[in-house]
Amino acid sequence: MHAMILKSIGSLSKNPAPLEWSEQPDPVAKTNEVLIRVKACGVCHTELDEIEGRTPPPQLPVILGHQVVGRVELAGTDVKGLEPGDRVGVAWIYSACGKCQYCNRGEENLCPNFLATGRDRNGGYAELMSVPAAYCYPIPDQFTDTQAAPLLCAGAVGYRSLQLADLQNRFPDTKIYVFARDEKEQVFARDLGAAWAGSSMEQAPERLHAIIDTTPAWTPILGALENLEPGGRLVINAIRKEGGDQNALMDLDYPRHLWMEKEIKSVANVTGNDVREFLELAADIPLQPEVQEYQLKEANQALLDMKNKHIRGAKVLLIG
Ligand SMILES: [Zn+2]
Ligand SMILES: [Zn+2]
Repeated sequence: MHAMILKSIGSLSKNPAPLEWSEQPDPVAKTNEVLIRVKACGVCHTELDEIEGRTPPPQLPVILGHQVVGRVELAGTDVKGLEPGDRVGVAWIYSACGKCQYCNRGEENLCPNFLATGRDRNGGYAELMSVPAAYCYPIPDQFTDTQAAPLLCAGAVGYRSLQLADLQNRFPDTKIYVFARDEKEQVFARDLGAAWAGSSMEQAPERLHAIIDTTPAWTPILGALENLEPGGRLVINAIRKEGGDQNALMDLDYPRHLWMEKEIKSVANVTGNDVREFLELAADIPLQPEVQEYQLKEANQALLDMKNKHIRGAKVLLIG
């Protein structure tokens, strides 16, 4: 099979083409696994964290990609309920132990033996991948392959963030305020129905119950804490933060930013249930993801565009 492989860790500004087009042996599915012919794979900011070493893959070379949509090519002998031809998705959670206290209470995202797709095991920047059948999810019919891909991480982790933010109802019953540094993104947010959009250090017209931070930076944390109402909660949705502006935290002012029972909670990543529930909800709403398509060979360009440009919509690789 063909794949884009990562052979070494380093800054994207020093090496703008870290992934290499390569011929690789086809993966072999174990008895509890399925082999998937990949059709689309979303490009996620966490892939930059892997490439630049903030959450490095334990072994190189590795195939990145954890928002995978494809068709079952072959199901292992112990697999039930999945057959060749079924359309499935794979998310960041590749497997967990299934036995520890966290797994027992449905929080396998906190499992000490958690394995991540496209980091600890090969992911979807390839024509084929294998994955435990328990961590495959049916994709609702109404989504195309490329539309479904970003639902598997950006969407599912966003869904977990909303739950951790203790949201009791949903848009449009809950007013949405959007903080984005780019003017175009603010316009995009208003187009989508945001009550207000401004830059990350602006004061919103009212104090907010909960704020979800999806940035790789530290400065927006201060802006967010200042915008919270007393007792409000900031949920940080990131697997890693970049180091650039970490000194901004030296400006943390206790009475202004934290006092009055404000809380900060991080999102670890996703559980299998988050992904299943979110895909159903996305079909029910229905969500209409905007995507920007690239060919598999253009993965480096997609990563660069994610880092440097503000292209509307999620980036997705088309495969095969
Ligand atoms: Zn992701
Ligand atoms: Zn476990």
